[in-house]
Amino acid sequence: MAEKKDFLFDPARNPLYRDDYRPTEYKIPAVTLDIALDETETVVKSRIHVTRNPALPDTGGALVLDGEGLKLKSLKIIENGQTRDLDRSEFVVTDKNLILKNPPAKPFDLEIVTEINPTENTTLSGIYMAGDILCSQCEAQGFRRITYFLDRPDNLATYDVTLTGEQKKFPVLLSNGNGEPAKTVDNGDGTHSINWKDPWPKPSYLFAVVAGDMHVLEDTFTTMTGKKVDLRIYVQDGYEDKIKWAMESLKRSMKWDEDRYGREYDLDCFHIVAVDKFNAGAMENKGLNVFNVKYLVGSPEVSTDDELIDIEAVIGHEYFHNYSGDRVTVRDWFELTLKEGFTVLRDRQFTEDMHSKEIKRIDDAVGLRSAQFMEDAGPTSHPIRPDRVEEFDNIYTGTIYEKGSHVLGMLHTMMGETTWRAATDEYFSRFDGQAVTCDDFVDVMQEVSGIDLTQFRQWYNQSGTPEISYTGDYDAASKTYRLTLTQNTPPTADQSAKVALHMPIAVGLIGQSGKDVPLALSTDAAGEAAPTTRVLHLTEASLTFEFKNVDGPVVPSILRGFSAPVKVTTQPSDEELVFRMAHDTDGFNKYEATERLMVKTLHKLIKQAENDLPLTLEQGFIDAYGENVKNALAGDLAFNARTLGLPPYNIIIQDLKTLDPDAVSEAIDFMKTTLAKTYAEDFKNIYTATAAPAGEAYNVVPAQVGRRELHNTALGFIGKLETPDAALDAVAQYGHSKNMTEKLAALGVVTRMTDKDAMTVADKLLEDFYGRYKDNNNLVDKWLSLQAGRPADGALARVQELMKHEAYDATNPNKVYALIGGFTAGNPSAFHDKDGSGYKFLADTIIDLNDVNAKTATNLAKRFTQFKRYDSDRQALMISQMERIMAVPTLDIGIKEIIGKALDTVEKKPTNDNARKTAPARKQG
Ligand SMILES: [Zn+2]
Repeated sequence: MAEKKDFLFDPARNPLYRDDYRPTEYKIPAVTLDIALDETETVVKSRIHVTRNPALPDTGGALVLDGEGLKLKSLKIIENGQTRDLDRSEFVVTDKNLILKNPPAKPFDLEIVTEINPTENTTLSGIYMAGDILCSQCEAQGFRRITYFLDRPDNLATYDVTLTGEQKKFPVLLSNGNGEPAKTVDNGDGTHSINWKDPWPKPSYLFAVVAGDMHVLEDTFTTMTGKKVDLRIYVQDGYEDKIKWAMESLKRSMKWDEDRYGREYDLDCFHIVAVDKFNAGAMENKGLNVFNVKYLVGSPEVSTDDELIDIEAVIGHEYFHNYSGDRVTVRDWFELTLKEGFTVLRDRQFTEDMHSKEIKRIDDAVGLRSAQFMEDAGPTSHPIRPDRVEEFDNIYTGTIYEKGSHVLGMLHTMMGETTWRAATDEYFSRFDGQAVTCDDFVDVMQEVSGIDLTQFRQWYNQSGTPEISYTGDYDAASKTYRLTLTQNTPPTADQSAKVALHMPIAVGLIGQSGKDVPLALSTDAAGEAAPTTRVLHLTEASLTFEFKNVDGPVVPSILRGFSAPVKVTTQPSDEELVFRMAHDTDGFNKYEATERLMVKTLHKLIKQAENDLPLTLEQGFIDAYGENVKNALAGDLAFNARTLGLPPYNIIIQDLKTLDPDAVSEAIDFMKTTLAKTYAEDFKNIYTATAAPAGEAYNVVPAQVGRRELHNTALGFIGKLETPDAALDAVAQYGHSKNMTEKLAALGVVTRMTDKDAMTVADKLLEDFYGRYKDNNNLVDKWLSLQAGRPADGALARVQELMKHEAYDATNPNKVYALIGGFTAGNPSAFHDKDGSGYKFLADTIIDLNDVNAKTATNLAKRFTQFKRYDSDRQALMISQMERIMAVPTLDIGIKEIIGKALDTVEKKPTNDNARKTAPARKQG
């Protein structure tokens, strides 16, 4: 990173370095917690057993425990069987620590009583009230808001937890480990208690407590060795009939982890709780996962196919953490990708196995390219294992999760499934019950596979998106084809110098007949198998691979299956793309060819729009697209739907040097309208042919999911023309569909119409939708998002009006993301309005949220970090809003890191204009 001295000396920015990791001199191997739960006065009595760390020399240093926002009620020491109050002279309490100055040499216990106020805790970290439910969130550093502790992942302890609470308010009392929630002890004073024991040593970030009045769905799972596990899913009123899918998903996850990774569940029970107020998707607390309602509650009537598949994936993800994260955990937070990259890979494989592998590959690649690649190119770029962090809550990024998973995916590709399984088995058994590092992981992969991974490790150190280019050269005389692959990683905000990486590039060569050519390298022994897709190891800046026995010219198909998280920069001709659209046998690359041709064509339109020229679509493109339209009803319908729909916005804008949001919108609009007009009859036929057969039972199976997706895609094109017929089709679909996938798509089509009559229809449908589903938070979120994205004039005013609606709640992250996020991401024309009103609105919102929900505000602040991609007027507008945010005296450290990094990249003017540098906010930090 380009160090900024003014920030290094700013104590509030507090950077932490990976190299500074030191083990603690003391360990807490066991903790007993006695928690008297109350909405405003929760009393936590913690007894911790403290020992010296046997791995370190004994210096007799102070014991420094972490603690934040705690009221210390009493502090006792228990040594040699004697209990006594500690004298004030023996310890120090600061706003971050409790320090025992001269701890005894022999192991001893401390009894710490603290009091906390869950109602006043709006950080959504530690113990807080999520509506009527008292719940906790401890990753990354929330446990220190519950009691004084070594709140770091390398301290693993067993937990013995007794919860006490009012019977009426908190009939259900849950924590980690083994226990029987139905068997609480009545204390005779209106309260009851329960004991939970977790035998598996765990770091404090995996601790959890949940208490409240909830419905439960019970089931059981029998493990591979015949052990019966009690499964319970808890939800609040109104959700109890919508958790069957979650339970089925949980059982599928447990079975899959046994089958594919040999992992058997290790406690007597497994619990999941869903709460409305939750900052993330879900949390893998040992034996007690806590979920955002959005990722747990779902049924065909109220959820779309995508959401149901997502719910299954998140349930899988959190469950898989039981081994990749809980049993083997991270040494420190810089190693986050060790558990997250690995677990994301595992949940991706799970979804591939449960549904369509091809579609999952496409979605993952599109997801990575549309979000993580931007992160790599922006001011917050960092390697999957960062070296420097200012606020640990800010490292939950697409880079650490998604790119991290693709880095491991490359290892899987290089090793093959059998070796991968052997290596992961070894990893789980060697490091069971330990807190380890990414290096430890790669060591095992190298040892078991025998592949030299020295160079591969650079993926952990280097940020940025590698760019791959290729050239091919066919020699008819010798029947050889020479393919040269070149890699280059452009400099990023955090690193200027880059090295060549080791990456597996899966390639195919398509012959003129449209068939794949068998791939024999010149270096292959005679008789060696020649597969039609081959993984080439690109280990240098540039390498040439020579294929023999190639009978004629070929079209290369590079990066099949998205075998590495890289960008292919070579731009094939339109003819070559059209050829690959028709013949590539690799689903991912076939899709990619279509996407590339569309993006290329859109870029031409954007240029025309920027130069105020009339927009025209080339006939070659219209015809090539027409082939996809003609073939839409054959084969995998979900795949076909993806080749008909326009690429996601972020993919379209990715390679544009300067972004003009108005021109982009105009181009997208023009392309969609032209295609809709040209193939109006075909879309109508596709639409009719993909209607659900009468009496079909709804199921989340690829055939049905694909059909619904194509049906909705066709409706999207029909609706684009805004004819009275189109509106009627959409209204009819909205009215008769029994499933949310079709209902919501129809509503979406109508709300995107800009014709006056259609807008009146949309208003009516939106009103109807709210009336029907106002009790369903997730659908209300959708309702907010749809309105935030309405393209017609007055979008910002509508959003501001909705912020006063009963449906909106600034303290609920889901609501904020739905409405404010729906506006900033889903309505680019309005958000980027040249008058700067959208930017001012976002800054106002961030400043307001700073006090009530800083984490959500931090995520919203990321919207400003791409400011450099816009024209100078918009840049200036965004910079002034960022400076306004930085000037808030009580600004949250997470927001400060995001905005601060973005402002760091603003070129300092060569004049003596020091206004920005000396702005009070920067000085005070
Ligand atoms: Zn995770």
